[in-house]
Amino acid sequence: MKTKKFDPASKIQALKQFGEFGGVNPSITDSSTFTFMTAKTMLDTFHGETEGCFLYARHWNPSNKFLADALAAMEGTEAAWVTGSGMAAITTVILQLCNSGDHIVSSVTTYGGTYAFLKNYLPKFNIDVTFVDITDLDAVEKAIRPNTKMVYTETMTNPLLQISDIPAMSKITKKHGVQLVVDNTFTPMIFAPYLMGADIVVYSMTKYINGKNDAVAGAICASNQFVLDISNVNNGTAMLLGPALDPLRSSSILKNLHTLHIRMKQHSKNAMYLAERFKEIGLKYNYPGMPSHPQHELMKSMMNEEYGFGGMIAIDMETAERAAALMESMQLKNVGYHAVSLGYFKTLFSNSGKSTSSEVPVEVQHEMGMSPGLVRFSVGLDNDIEATFELIQESLNEI
Ligand SMILES: *Cc1c(COP(=O)(O)O)cnc(C)c1O
Repeated sequence: MKTKKFDPASKIQALKQFGEFGGVNPSITDSSTFTFMTAKTMLDTFHGETEGCFLYARHWNPSNKFLADALAAMEGTEAAWVTGSGMAAITTVILQLCNSGDHIVSSVTTYGGTYAFLKNYLPKFNIDVTFVDITDLDAVEKAIRPNTKMVYTETMTNPLLQISDIPAMSKITKKHGVQLVVDNTFTPMIFAPYLMGADIVVYSMTKYINGKNDAVAGAICASNQFVLDISNVNNGTAMLLGPALDPLRSSSILKNLHTLHIRMKQHSKNAMYLAERFKEIGLKYNYPGMPSHPQHELMKSMMNEEYGFGGMIAIDMETAERAAALMESMQLKNVGYHAVSLGYFKTLFSNSGKSTSSEVPVEVQHEMGMSPGLVRFSVGLDNDIEATFELIQESLNEI
């Protein structure tokens, strides 16, 4: 498959992004507005016709362009646009594609904020959403209506770690003339959704891409036309709602992007080690890298093998009380931190039902098969993961 040969890290490395004075890091352009030598160039830039000219930093700025170009190279898209958060990327895409009266088909398991936006916020624009089990492709196709504008999913869903069959979904969306929008936050470099047929790929860069938990940011990777459309001064959602990323942040995120490939491999290696040990001790766990995972073979057919199966793993403690006891003990032993978010160098763990999926009503959590005792781990970059496992085991023995 095409994605296996795609080498996102080398695509990023192949860019030559020098600073203004030959600095090896691109210069930070700390300006909100830009000067023009002629009146005509300014007008043309307003109309989106002047390549390489910058007008105003909510529209575009050079630091964001460097980062956006690197992300487009990573994803294999023509273009990208960077936002002040992952939610800003997701909501910008949705509000750009959908008008009042339109319809969306979405995976029922998504990030809690995305679920809340689709379920609670879109009704005020009269945009209707049908939630489906994304592993049931018949259900996805049946849910498409004449007014459907997009199918929304996560390549690896939060927190159930289901895998979306992007090539098959893309066949369905192309047949019906709707856009396939994919959140690839959990699996950068592991999956290249655009190259498998997705139309638009979104990221919370807050997570793996930045990997330092010092910033909130997002990205939209898409066609040139879509990026022009969202930044159109007259009717572009990004231009008019204004979620542009700050250039100081985009500059720091770009530097972290250059180590993403190394980090992803270590996260995956450590998570695989924990999965194997969890299996040995008979713990109820969920990891797409293990053959027992329902979409293990599907993941193998779609993934960029050298990056492994990702750093996210979940265990089932059956009840929220036992999950809490385990997490408190692990925090005391410094296995990592009891915190939401992911992609950090230390292991982070949280009880999804009581945190990042708490926006999802308990009945829906139950329906989608999410245990109240689910503890989601974002496995860190630990150099000695065996020692980390021993600490986890001590905590398990305590409760
Ligand atoms: C965190 C997250 C988001 C939201 O991103 P922010 O940067 O927090 O706005 C969206 N999707 C997924 C899968 C996430 O994990």
